[in-house]
Amino acid sequence: LYEFLFTDFGDRADAPAVIDGPTGNAITFRQLHELVDKVAAGLAARGIGKGDVVALFAPNNPYWVAAFHGIIRANATVTSANSLYTAPELVHQLKDSGARMIITVSPFLDRASAAAAEVGIPDDAIITLDPAEGRTSLAELAATDAAPPALEVGAEDVAVLPYSSGTTGLAKGVILTHRNLVANLCQVEPVFSVTPERRLLAVLPFFHIYGMTVMMNNGLYHRSTVVTMPKFEPQEFLRVISEHRVDYVYIAPPVAVFLAKHPIVDQYDLSCIDTIFSGAAPLDAELGHAVEKRLGCRVLQGYGMTELSPVSHAHPFDSTYDLNSVGLAIPNTECKLVDPETGKEVGPGERGELWVKGPQVMRGYLNNPEATAATLDADGFLHTGDVATVTEDGVYTIVDRVKELIKYKGYQVPPAELEALLLTNPRIADAAVIGVRDEEGEEVPKAFVVKQPGAEDLTEDEVMAYVAERIAPHKKVRVVEFIDAIPKSASGKILRKDLRAREAQKV
Ligand code: ATP
Ligand code: MG
Repeated sequence: LYEFLFTDFGDRADAPAVIDGPTGNAITFRQLHELVDKVAAGLAARGIGKGDVVALFAPNNPYWVAAFHGIIRANATVTSANSLYTAPELVHQLKDSGARMIITVSPFLDRASAAAAEVGIPDDAIITLDPAEGRTSLAELAATDAAPPALEVGAEDVAVLPYSSGTTGLAKGVILTHRNLVANLCQVEPVFSVTPERRLLAVLPFFHIYGMTVMMNNGLYHRSTVVTMPKFEPQEFLRVISEHRVDYVYIAPPVAVFLAKHPIVDQYDLSCIDTIFSGAAPLDAELGHAVEKRLGCRVLQGYGMTELSPVSHAHPFDSTYDLNSVGLAIPNTECKLVDPETGKEVGPGERGELWVKGPQVMRGYLNNPEATAATLDADGFLHTGDVATVTEDGVYTIVDRVKELIKYKGYQVPPAELEALLLTNPRIADAAVIGVRDEEGEEVPKAFVVKQPGAEDLTEDEVMAYVAERIAPHKKVRVVEFIDAIPKSASGKILRKDLRAREAQKV
């Protein structure tokens, strides 16, 4: 990965590689390259090398990029941890991945130190990206005259151990090799034809594979500029886009909901945006078109998962596919749709579980041979757990996760379809749907709804009627509850498991 990205930067050497959105501080390609090599030398001096795992537990900023590639350059493996993790959650990842060192930021030190103590990582093996009292900072680690160690890793060595989002259960460690990451960058090249002078916004976290590959590494690869933000905050998000004249904004659907519906969006000059690219969870076409209309830009969609490094499907930048779809399989990716019950392949128009084969498919789950065996088959196909359809022309549409489909009287109702429909109601700010049991023990769709400001008089009957008028009778929403906010993960997914837990508590 290092050799692939850090080659001759040509006339881009002194152009900004990464800009810190909030402060505007920039780091050029030349500076980044020097820092990466120094960090690697510093890590090597501390005994980090091939086979060692270093945890990166920090929000997006330019030094995250330097630390990540410094670890890679030191022949070691990065395990990137979710910024929202509590100490016990971090303990799980540190133990599971066998991390020997933690690179973090001073505001996260409480959690990082507590977790490190628990797993036996010594105090002096906690490095901070920013200067912190009594700690070694990244700059101090990098303050060495030593040359970086020789490159010892090959394509089949493990580059990163990211964790899946934990949307359906405990997050799983995913083994991705250098080949996986480089392959996916090559595969998306014809899709995301980003030119050097373009600016990409990385507000979605680098610790998640979408941010890591599609924003950070894709930006570096194309010598374009990545503008980082440590978290999504509505006004700051709009300000950073407008001030840094961002061309490409990568988002997950909750940000599309915000862009389509929030009143403050009109207060900013967002004419710089060329394309908004949505991934990580289902985006509905109507919502996407509402964003296109409001901002005067193009909205595209792609699909992927941590296990796929992450991309397998996407709309090419200049395409006009149906926005409900996730476009074509990217080059060098073989796909099948399989009926989960019969194991038989289904044809165009029929629903089946999506199976994917290609160089971006993970080696397996970490310390979890059962899950690996259940996901990767003998022919090299990864069973995604997602239901999809495909047209005669090879355009895929994701229906929902196999496990999330609500089974109502023998029909399968995808919650994502109902959520999308609910969002078309201007009086609804946000919505999520799960299956609950009614008095007869039948599974029925229940909607959790957040009211739009000014729509305080919205009633449950009005919500049910809105859906009923627009959908086949078996898909009707049969229970409604108003809530303040829909639980979502850092990578932008609706946490239906949290809503189910909430339901379980009521009984
Ligand atoms: P876990 O596997 O830990 O439960 P997760 O599956 O949410 O969490 P990720 O690897 O971050 O973890 O997400 C991959 C999943 O995200 C896919 O399997 C799919 O369900 C969903 N997804 C990604 N992109 C899209 C999309 N464009 N449309 C619909 N679903 C999507
Ligand atoms: Mg998953």
